[in-house]
Formats: sequence, structure tokens, C-alpha cells
Amino acid sequence: MALSEIRFHTPKNLAEALEVLGELKEARIVAGGTDLYVDIKQGLIEARDIISLHKIEELKGIEKKDKKIRIGAMVTAQDIISSSIISQNITALADAAQSVASYQIRSMATIGGNLSSAVPSADLPPVLITAEATVELRCTESSREVSLSEFFRGPRETVCKTEELLTFIFVPFPPPNTGISYQKFALREANALAVASVASRLTLKDGKIDRAAIVLGAVGPTPVEALKTSEFLSGKEPSYSLFKEASLMAKEEGKPISDIRGSVWYRKELIQILTVRALNLALFRAQGKSKRME
Ligand SMILES: Cc1cc2nc3c(=O)[nH]c(=O)nc-3n(C[C@H](O)[C@H](O)[C@H](O)COP(=O)(O)OP(=O)(O)OC[C@H]3O[C@@H](n4cnc5c(N)ncnc54)[C@H](O)[C@@H]3O)c2cc1C
Repeated sequence: MALSEIRFHTPKNLAEALEVLGELKEARIVAGGTDLYVDIKQGLIEARDIISLHKIEELKGIEKKDKKIRIGAMVTAQDIISSSIISQNITALADAAQSVASYQIRSMATIGGNLSSAVPSADLPPVLITAEATVELRCTESSREVSLSEFFRGPRETVCKTEELLTFIFVPFPPPNTGISYQKFALREANALAVASVASRLTLKDGKIDRAAIVLGAVGPTPVEALKTSEFLSGKEPSYSLFKEASLMAKEEGKPISDIRGSVWYRKELIQILTVRALNLALFRAQGKSKRME
């Protein structure tokens, strides 16, 4: 179906959007359109009705709420980069947003769209999973909060039902002495999806790693939580040799495929390198130091 034949609906607030979505069961939601319109143009998906969220102001803010950061689904990658709440509390999310595409795409691409597209190479999910983010999924009658680590079911598949909207993302403030980082490798500087990416989080206590989390991107059908590697790091004193050892484990936890952007071998090598870099940066941030560890 041509774009000109599609019926557009532009609800002015969240309640109206949920109502329209409840009535038009087969409708597609559009946020920034940087994924959806490409898919329609390429004939990958059909849409008779499209509900645009662009007029819904309630979904556009980033604010502190109940010991968490609440991010509206319509917040763009560029909004994340400019937010002082994000840069002061979870810099890695701004790093991930900065690595998305190009300025033009970042100005349209929303966090809600990035998560809902469920593309394995997407940049925002790995950091948000390490940060233990949750998402609110709302329909006319009810709302539920789902951990982001349980949100993705497969490539382009999530637990969000057709009558539900992803409304907000909640990110708990990281505890003291915590550092989170994101490292991505792509084939070009701009407009390139990750060949592989790694997000890591370290919380230090008495000079040791109290808790660690590592999430790998673009090396599985969904973001991969490298649980064995994270467990291996916990309770140990951080050092370059420890991070090297951890990176060899992380490499084995990814389940990449070979495609146009890279082979299985290449992606595994990347995971090893990016894990060391991500852990170094997370440690640097956890220590609040201005110098990186040698
Ligand atoms: C040239 C180019 C380069 C790109 N580079 C990158 C990159 O480097 N990194 C990266 O991560 N991505 C990249 N992308 C992909 C894309 O820009 C992002 O995934 C973007 O964040 C999608 O957001 P959107 O608002 O445009 O989503 P849309 O296209 O509007 O929607 C995407 C999907 O999510 C659904 N959806 C949107 N919002 C909601 C909601 N609130 N509730 C439920 N469902 C919803 C839509 O129905 C649709 O299925 C690139 C895209 C292009 C075209």
C-alpha cells in the first residue's frame, strides 16, 4: 500500500491515543518514523491506519520521579544528548544516543521507537538493560511495568501487545560508586548500525567490584546479558588483567551470526576488544577519576 493511501490519526493526548489504539486493533504506531516508514516503503510491513504520537506532549519529557529518571517514549536521541539529568546521572545513555545514525535521524528517532523496533543492533537497549530500566506498557484499561531485560522476545519482536503503547522508560538512579559505559563498533562514523556493541556497569565497594553487568548488542536475536562474565567479575579487585580475562568469557557469551556487516569470527573479536574498553570506562566513571586505568 502506498503511503498516500494510509489513514493518519493524530491524537492530541495520551488518553485519546489509547482510545484510538483500542478501537483500531490493526493500526500501526508512528513516533519518529525513521524505522516504520522505511519498512513500509520497502514493503516489509503493511499499514492501513497509522496513529502518530507526535502531538502527545505528556510523552516528551525527561524528569526525576520517585527515585528514578522517567523518560517519555517520544523523547528523541537528540533530547537525551542535551538532557542535564541524563548527562549527570547516566552519561552512557547520552553516549549511546550520540552514536545513533546522524544528527538528522537523531532529531527524529525516539527512545520508544528504538526499543519497540527491537532491532538487535539498536544502540539504546544495552545501556538501558545494564541500568536496570523498566518500561511502562499501557492500554485503555490497564498498565504494566516490564523489566527491559524481559521486553525483547526476538528480532523485531517484543512483549508489547497490539493494543498497548510503550509510554515511559524508568531508569533507577545508579547507586554511589557506579560507572556505566557504552562502546560500539560500526563500519562508518555516521548512519551505521553496530556490528557489535558492549554496555557495562560496575559498582565498587571497598576497592572491589561489588556488582557487575555486561550486555552485548548485535550478537544475538535480542541484547545478550553476559551473565557468566558479570558473575565472574563480582567480588574481584578491578585490574586490566581481570578485564582481559572477562573479555574472553564475554566473547563466548555472544551468539552472533554472519551477515553483510561482519562474520561470526569478526563479531566475537569485536566483543573481546569492546568489553575491555567498556569495563575500563565503567571503572573510570565508578571511581570518579579523571585518569583512565593503565
Ligand atoms: C539511516 C538510518 C540510520 C540508523 N542508524 C541507527 C543507529 O546507528 N542506531 C540505532 O539504534 N538505530 C538506528 N536507526 C534506526 C532508527 O533510527 C531507530 O531505531 C529509532 O530510534 C527509531 O525510532 P522512531 O521514533 O523513528 O521509531 P518509528 O519508526 O516511529 O517506530 C519504530 C517501531 O516502533 C513502534 N513504536 C514506536 N513508538 C512506539 C511506542 N511508544 N509504543 C509502541 N510501539 C512504538 C512503531 O510502530 C514501529 O514498529 C537508523 C535508521 C536509519 C533510517
